[in-house]
Amino acid sequence: MASGLPNPSAHWNRAMKSVIGAPAIRERLPEILYDESRLICGTPSAAYFPESIDDIREIVLRAHRDHTPLTIIGGKTGIAGGSVPTDGSIALCLSAMNQILHISRLPDGSACMLCRPGIMLSAIDDFLANPAAEQQVPGSEHVSQGRYFYPPDPTELSAQLGGTVATNASGARSFHYGATRVHVESLKIILADGEALSLRRNEHPIRNGYFSVKTETGKEISIRAPSYVSPRLKNASGYYADPAMDLLDLFIGSEGTLGIIAEIGIRIRPKPDIMAGLSFFDKRDYAVAFAGLLRTDPAIAAIEYFDSSALDFLRAHAGAISLKIADFPAGKTCALFWERIESPADSFDTRIDLFERQLSECGSSLDATWSGADERESARLKEFRHAVPELINQRIAQAKRECPAIRKVSTDTAVPGDVFETVFNESVRMIEDARCAYVAFGHIGDYHLHFNMLPSNQAEMDRAVAVYQRLMDLTIKNRGTVSAEHGVGKLKVPYLRAMYGDAVIAEMKRIKSELDPHWVMSRGNLFEFDEMLTIQDTEDTEKAQRATEKI
Ligand SMILES: Cc1cc2nc3c(=O)[nH]c(=O)nc-3n(C[C@H](O)[C@H](O)[C@H](O)COP(=O)(O)OP(=O)(O)OC[C@H]3O[C@@H](n4cnc5c(N)ncnc54)[C@H](O)[C@@H]3O)c2cc1C
Repeated sequence: MASGLPNPSAHWNRAMKSVIGAPAIRERLPEILYDESRLICGTPSAAYFPESIDDIREIVLRAHRDHTPLTIIGGKTGIAGGSVPTDGSIALCLSAMNQILHISRLPDGSACMLCRPGIMLSAIDDFLANPAAEQQVPGSEHVSQGRYFYPPDPTELSAQLGGTVATNASGARSFHYGATRVHVESLKIILADGEALSLRRNEHPIRNGYFSVKTETGKEISIRAPSYVSPRLKNASGYYADPAMDLLDLFIGSEGTLGIIAEIGIRIRPKPDIMAGLSFFDKRDYAVAFAGLLRTDPAIAAIEYFDSSALDFLRAHAGAISLKIADFPAGKTCALFWERIESPADSFDTRIDLFERQLSECGSSLDATWSGADERESARLKEFRHAVPELINQRIAQAKRECPAIRKVSTDTAVPGDVFETVFNESVRMIEDARCAYVAFGHIGDYHLHFNMLPSNQAEMDRAVAVYQRLMDLTIKNRGTVSAEHGVGKLKVPYLRAMYGDAVIAEMKRIKSELDPHWVMSRGNLFEFDEMLTIQDTEDTEKAQRATEKI
């Protein structure tokens, strides 16, 4: 039987959707061959759409037995190539596991919603807008209509919850509420050997340098905790490490390399009243200064920057997604989107006076601000914000049709606040010196911006890749992270190594080998595959540990 074809077994769900063989996949499922980065690596030998945890386990067991790599595919909105299948791998597509299982009340007034990984963020939002419509979800009375929300909002609502946990995704409001990690209460993980871990927050801290846990069948697992510490920045690069972490945290942001996230308990919070605005500025320095003033207000939920390159791009291409954009205020070249959590104790007039004073200190005004005072206006501003990355991805897809070598070349870096402006200005200089067309925007509240190159042909693509390398060097030199939210996937493997150095990478690989001795899980993500690190003939974790101690 060809690699990737599971042997039939008594447990095999014969009704599970599958497409077997590379030619059939190319013909019937071409959309699973790439994600939003437009990277293509090869064709899997089989694709499965599991419907239950038992289905996942059956697929995983066969991959483990045959040492066949598994590519875990969520919503494919990733832009680092993490869910792009490698040649000959088994594609495990989670879209059929898209249910909300139940909701329980937490002591602090929020709610915990237990979901399957394939549920899309849009489905979570729809459910919370009208939970009564989904009467079959036990506990839905705990989230009264339209009054609750799930804070991470990584812009693209067709992302699956599992994908966002696997990448520790974040959105505009992560400035206030934190990235996905802090909203995860529990996880069920299917490990490479088919064992399941049920993890609840705070139940598996580091003790004497190890995480200790029992699988659902009672097998004891001990994993040596990382000795490095992750940068204290917004970060989605490599395995999270902190002395105060929980085992759960190791899997969040691990990009499918340590196990399959098969169930997720997320914290749902009461929805705040939000005032939003889009303020326009004459020049970049003023916008950066206004962002600095906003950062000092603890009620600010989001601060997002749109460079002149982004406003020009939006104006030129809005027709492609039929977005109606009013004329930008005269003479203004860049903008900041901001959101503030309102409280009954605040005086509206005092707050507006303060905004007006701060805006005028930065060469702007309330007249040069589009307000998002009610839900409809807020939704309009949100649409504006989403339009920029969406149009960029469309532009890349279109350019790729003309020149297949083109793929997304976009930074996702964050740096410490004290060097942000220097790095920002230096980045613009490098890109402009390299004569690359680009669009810059992003999460300035967290000192985290995206520079998106817009190549149209091979020569421009080569220049974009070269300047990207220089931008990574600049970030690393300034104590920054090479990925703050999109993850490393397959595209940023060399930069992860450059950021952490060989010793930390060896430690991350050791953790992987302990949990996935044959390196079947998402092989090619985070690290280059090194056969020497796989354990060929044992399922014994102890042996895996001894072997990896030599790394
Ligand atoms: C227009 C646009 C805007 C975006 N804006 C943002 C943004 O603001 N912030 C942000 O963080 N991201 C953003 N993204 C990127 C993307 O939406 C996120 O990375 C998202 O988390 C990916 O989720 P997904 O379900 O599409 O995962 P995929 O792309 O399918 O997979 C991502 C990674 O997760 C792994 N994975 C998926 N499901 C599981 C699972 N159940 N178990 C284990 N591993 C799994 C995959 O193997 C892969 O490594 C944007 C993308 C687009 C297209």
